[in-house]
Amino acid sequence: MENLIDKRNPTRSFHKQPTMVWIRRVVYMLVVALLSRLYPTTSAAFSCPRRSLLLATASSFDSRSAQQKQHKQRGRNRFSSTATTRSTSTTSLRSTSTMSPTTESSSLAADCPSYQSLVTKLQRITNLERAKAVLSYDQLVFMPSAASAERGAQLAALASVLHEQTTSPELLQDIQQATQYLQGVKDTSVFQDERRLLELEDKTFQENARIPSELAQRKAQLSSSAYTAWVQARQDDDFASFAPTLSDCFETAKELADCKRGDHNKDTVSLYTQMLDEFEMGMSASRIDEIFGQIQASLVPLLTKILASPSPPSTEALSKGSFPIDKQQEMSSQIVKALGFDETMGRIDVSVHPFTTSFSPKDVRITSRFSEKEWYQGLAGTIHEGGHAMYEQGLACSSLSLDTALSMGAHESQSLFWERHVGLSLPFWEWATPLVHQSFPHLQDTTPEELYGAVNAVSKGLIRVEADELTYPLHVILRYGIEKDIVGGTMSVEDIPKRWKQEMKDLLDVDVPNDAKGCLQDVHWSALAIGYFPTYLIGAATAAQLEHYIKQDLNFDELVRKGDFAPIKAWLGKKIHRHGKRYPSLDSMLADQLGEKLNPEYLIRYLTDKYTALYKI
Ligand SMILES: [Zn+2]
Repeated sequence: MENLIDKRNPTRSFHKQPTMVWIRRVVYMLVVALLSRLYPTTSAAFSCPRRSLLLATASSFDSRSAQQKQHKQRGRNRFSSTATTRSTSTTSLRSTSTMSPTTESSSLAADCPSYQSLVTKLQRITNLERAKAVLSYDQLVFMPSAASAERGAQLAALASVLHEQTTSPELLQDIQQATQYLQGVKDTSVFQDERRLLELEDKTFQENARIPSELAQRKAQLSSSAYTAWVQARQDDDFASFAPTLSDCFETAKELADCKRGDHNKDTVSLYTQMLDEFEMGMSASRIDEIFGQIQASLVPLLTKILASPSPPSTEALSKGSFPIDKQQEMSSQIVKALGFDETMGRIDVSVHPFTTSFSPKDVRITSRFSEKEWYQGLAGTIHEGGHAMYEQGLACSSLSLDTALSMGAHESQSLFWERHVGLSLPFWEWATPLVHQSFPHLQDTTPEELYGAVNAVSKGLIRVEADELTYPLHVILRYGIEKDIVGGTMSVEDIPKRWKQEMKDLLDVDVPNDAKGCLQDVHWSALAIGYFPTYLIGAATAAQLEHYIKQDLNFDELVRKGDFAPIKAWLGKKIHRHGKRYPSLDSMLADQLGEKLNPEYLIRYLTDKYTALYKI
């Protein structure tokens, strides 16, 4: 999602409509969305570096993105996202051999009425959330703009019902009684899914219950006003006017995190780690320090060498001539279906900004956008969203949080695996080049090697969402360091512009001309989404690790070269998709499935080997 932020055009058209109309819409939608976010249920939304994924929930990011797009094209928006608050966990690692696809028909229900009652309640909550997601999708893709207020009222009504159901004493009672029952079952090898589900639901309920209503309301109000202030500050290139509001955002986010972690975790869980948990369950700041430190140490000197190369690849084949939209749509659709997107359980549409949304594993929608001037970005976007969609389609079809995506980093690993490790590889272009020739006959003399070089060209730049796979990690690392230090109290919000400019110079050798193109470019902090940025790079590192291990099991390059993608999708399904939230963290899932927790050396090696060869250094 991003939308936070779409790669190519984050907020350019915000002010095509009268400002007051726009502000009223934003505030209204944010209030509706934030009601949902304050009282989250089983679904999650994810945000991508360049595109968007919205999964069955309304979040502040969603509304923000939505509003941004409504100013570009009626009813069509880029989505943005946040993460689940319903799923973090804590404990055990389970063997996959004991996993069942769903606990909805658990035999436990026959012996424990509270468990059956709980499942019934959770199913109802999920169905309400999915209905809300359909309304949101329709609003962003198809709905006439005149219906905005009515749609807002419909969403608000659903949010109200959801709030009531997700905070009901009866729900807590069912969780507690079922937990008590299972504590009496001493053989912990049985009912593992049920135990995990109860763990997830109890954590979500307790975290939300620890947030005072006054703080929840304050957050909702601040998110609305901060977004408006951020848009204005960016337009005016005026960080100073935004700084007090941004400071409030950080302070309020800290208060929320402090409430969520509870008194029992105050001495063991840092505030920033608690914030991370919202988006990447089980991840800690110290672990990210370790991972990102390795990546930074390797990529900065590598980038310097590459940018000094006298032999950069040509990008001419991407924009030479004109590229009919219908041909691009046809080719992109053909390719993403060949990769494994199941159109019998989803749809491919066109929107201003690409995104993915899921109403269940049997109904996963992706959208793309295309430009007549350049054909690769439209294809890359479709492949990226297709990767998200295949994860969603690969989850067990149940209504329980156990069968939702593990984390935002895990989700991004799937989109990036297909976009980068398949779609940016030479074997892929050996397979796909004839399709390009067929779609764009004037490129018929272009070779697979030339297309491979063109789509992998590196350039340093100011804007994160426009960055390539080599420079993108450094944009993330910069933001991570700043937000962690502010939360930790070792720097102030007022110092952000200075540090931003210094680190852009140090990491990317880029001079930042103003704050609008610097520290004001992202919406995340104004949405109190602190701890969100790291998931982008966690996803990229995970994708590279998956490539390493899939090559041990499959003749990966040859499969890609032949266009035989089914074994690859099946491997990802086995290693990632089918597990849902059964693992307490991405590290634990990778350790169990690959034999090794997240290891950034695979990303470093992938980038080093690839770009050293491509740039002949
Ligand atoms: Zn993504």
